[in-house]
This record gives sequence, structure tokens and C-alpha cells, in this order.
Amino acid sequence: MIDLSIARVKRNETNNIEVNDRKRILVLGGGFAGIEVLRRLENTLGNDFTVDINVVSKDNFFLFTPMLPEVVSGMIETRHIVTPVRAFCKRAKFYEAIIRSIDFQKKQVTISNETDTKNEPTNWHDHTLDYDYLVLALGGETNFFGMEDVKKYSYTMKSLGDAIALRNHVIDMLEQSSIEQDGELRKSLMTFVVVGGGFAGVETVGELNALVRDAVRGFYHDIDTQDIRVVLVNAGDKILPEVSDDLSSFATQKMKESGIEMIQKNPVSSATPYNVKLKDGTVIETHTLVWAGGVTPEKIVKELQCEHDRGGRIIVDEYLGVKGFDGVYAHGDCASITDSHTGKPYPPTAQNAVEQAKVVANNLISEIRTGTKVNFNYKSRGIMAQIGKRKGVGILFGMKTHGILAWMIWRTYYLSQLPTLEKKLRVVIDWFIDMFFKPDVTRLKIFTENQANHT
Ligand SMILES: Cc1cc2nc3c(=O)[nH]c(=O)nc-3n(C[C@H](O)[C@H](O)[C@H](O)COP(=O)(O)OP(=O)(O)OC[C@H]3O[C@@H](n4cnc5c(N)ncnc54)[C@H](O)[C@@H]3O)c2cc1C
Repeated sequence: MIDLSIARVKRNETNNIEVNDRKRILVLGGGFAGIEVLRRLENTLGNDFTVDINVVSKDNFFLFTPMLPEVVSGMIETRHIVTPVRAFCKRAKFYEAIIRSIDFQKKQVTISNETDTKNEPTNWHDHTLDYDYLVLALGGETNFFGMEDVKKYSYTMKSLGDAIALRNHVIDMLEQSSIEQDGELRKSLMTFVVVGGGFAGVETVGELNALVRDAVRGFYHDIDTQDIRVVLVNAGDKILPEVSDDLSSFATQKMKESGIEMIQKNPVSSATPYNVKLKDGTVIETHTLVWAGGVTPEKIVKELQCEHDRGGRIIVDEYLGVKGFDGVYAHGDCASITDSHTGKPYPPTAQNAVEQAKVVANNLISEIRTGTKVNFNYKSRGIMAQIGKRKGVGILFGMKTHGILAWMIWRTYYLSQLPTLEKKLRVVIDWFIDMFFKPDVTRLKIFTENQANHT
């Protein structure tokens, strides 16, 4: 075990500032919540080298999830929605590593580096990082509600790898279907089931529907469009619970018009490689189950010795501080924060994570510089979702909008939020090209020739 804090202190010995006077902020997580805190700390602290900032994340990039479904459809190129965490680190130190343990008493976090090197790792070991202030921004993982069969047979939509795997699988289904002579099997190959009525499920089913229909029209002329079945299964009674009832109904209607079958109030109860069973006994024959049924905090968050809600999210006070632990903050999908306007917890959205990060950064700096802490009291200015190609729904400053206008606002807003000018330009070019060309149906087999020989 190596203490990285000591290693870092040694590196700073030439600095005039007494080592003991330095404050160490440790940010865990490189998603919306963690990166926004980092950006704000970097901007506010500037050249104040009495404070060290360390960031740990298991991925060395920040993933812009609202555009992930467009990676599935191939509208946006994979690398264009990710930005290296190091691009945000002007003075902060970044560690790409898995967080193994968090000790509030010792004020210490243990991390270990994972590597995809081909050589057998002989000397990988854990490292420890000491902190004075800790930010927990660890998001969540896909929640299967204990259904191991669903976990085993479904595709998820949480990471870049998920989007690539799903895209390749969908194209594989098109290829298989175009060869298949058995009518029933062909239909099941052409049936795609997405589960989840939140952002991830709705936006994914919209993109998947567009990909399949455009690809069949453009390239797979031997597939009968009547065989295509794209289904959204939702356990709740409305999709996009964050929007009003009439906007949700509008979204449902528009999705139906684009050919998506909507099944509501009927949760999935089991799955096999060939079908999905719903609570009312309906069985859907399919080889594609996409699970976007919700998120739950990771085990390491659930097991922390602090207060949690029923779902395992960390309960924080009005300053977003973890109750009972000075200098420890939690926000984003891993935290449970009550909205004083509604009395309910804030939903796990990127927008909320970013707003919470502003408060966390402010309060951290206030603690260090003995300033004034602020409450988190955010009222959403609006909410937008893309429900398919050139269609969207949303509420902006209390005004409801839908159709192509909502879709254009969605695009403009999210483009403005995407980090770095380079990535913005790349995404705009991707969108522009998509307007004039058929979808790209190349299926990338992501393994080396050596691996392929062993499969
Ligand atoms: C497909 C999809 C579409 C979405 N669309 C929208 C949308 O349109 N609008 C919207 O507002 N929200 C949307 N969301 C929700 C939004 O992505 C989340 O609410 C947001 O990402 C939460 O931010 P976070 O920083 O809390 O968590 P995350 O973004 O999940 O970040 C968590 C970070 O912690 C790191 N981490 C986790 N565990 C460990 C560990 N053990 N060790 C090291 N690092 C770890 C991860 O690598 C990651 O960097 C969408 C989500 C998905 C999946």
C-alpha cells in the first residue's frame, strides 16, 4: 500500500507553503456532479496553492450521457461525447482508479488502479489518499431490482461501452434477420424491447427505433418493415415522470406515431435469451432487451457509515453536507436531497447534479476561507427530452413545448452544456452529416485477432 498523499507532499516541498497548512480536497467521481465541482474549485481557487485538489474516477473521461442514445443510432461518433478528465485539471491531480474504501474516521480513501495491459500485472497495489474535505459524487449503477435473469440477459445504457455493445448487437440482429428464413424467428430478431420510462429509456427507444427503421429502409430491403417491433415497457403509469401529465401524454402519442409500441403499468418480471415476461403474463419474443429501469448507488456508497434513504442514497443536509461528518459533501445521483418546493427528493438528473455541484463548491470554499455557506434550494427552469428523430418534449420557464421546436431547443441547450469547443464542433458536424446520409451500419467487432481465434 502506497500513501499518495505523502508522495504528493514530497513533490511540493520546494513550495513556500508549509505542508501542514495545506488543505486537501478530494473529489470522488468524474461525472456531472464531480466535474462541475472540480471546474468551480479550479476557477475560484486559481493560484491559491494552500489548497490541493485531487480527483479520482474509474474512467479517465467525463461522459455526456444525454447524447449517449445518439451513439447507439450512430448519429454521433463515440469519442465526441467524452472529454478527458485531465482536460479539466489545470492544477488538480487526477487518478484513474477504482475506489475501494472510504474511511470517514481516518479521513482516508483507498484506491486501486485497474489496467487493461496485456502483461500480467505483478506489482499493482492499493494506494491511499488523505483528505481534509471530501466530495462524494459517485453516481449510481443500473438497478435490476434483484432480477438476476434480467441482469444476465439485458443490455444496459449507462456507459460508453454499453452504447457500443448495444449498437453492434442491433446491427447484428438486422444482419441475422436478413438471412433468416423462419418467419417467427425473423420477427423475434426484429423485436427490440427497451425498459424504463425515464430519460434513459425514452431517449434510447427513440434512437433505436430511428436506427432500425432507417437502416431497413436504406440497406436491408429483404426485411419486411411489418416485422419490426420496437417496444417501450414502463412500470409506471406515465413516461418522463419529471414532466407534466399532458406533456407526458404528448410524448407517448408521438412515440406511438413513430412506430413505438408503448406498454405502461406493466413491469418486467423475468427474462431469457429469447423472451421477456411481463407482470400480467405477456411474453414478448425478443433477442434484444435493453434495461434502463433506474439507478441505485454502488455498494461502496450504500455501505458508508452514514445516513441513507431506503434506496441507499446518502442523506445530506441543506448545505449538501453528509450528516455527522464535517467537511464531507455528497451530491448527484448518489445523494438523497429533498426539494423544499415539492417535499420530494430531487430526481437523478444531470441538471440537478450540476446545480448541486455549484452549492458544494461554494460551501467547500466557504469552509476553507470561513465564508458563508448557502442552502441548496433549486427550482428547475425547465426539462427537455428527445423522443426520436427531430422530435422532443419539454417545459421551459413554465412554457410547454413539443415537436421539432422542443427538439431544436434540446439540441441547442445540450450542445451548450457539452464541454470543450472541439467536441461541440465535432457533434455539430455529426448532426449535419446525418441529415444527408443513410445511417452507418458497420458492426465493429471489438476484439483483437488473437482473441477472435479463441472464441
Ligand atoms: C442514457 C442516459 C440519458 C440521460 N439523459 C439525461 C438528460 O437528457 N438530462 C438529464 O438531466 N439527465 C439525463 N440522464 C441522467 C444523468 O446522466 C445523471 O443524472 C447524471 O449523470 C448524474 O451525475 P453524477 O455525477 O451524479 O453521476 P455519474 O455521471 O454517473 O458519474 C459518476 C462518476 O463516478 C465514477 N465512479 C463511480 N463509482 C466509482 C468507483 N467505485 N471508483 C471510481 N470511480 C467511480 C464514475 O466513473 C463516474 O465518473 C441520462 C442518463 C442516461 C444513462
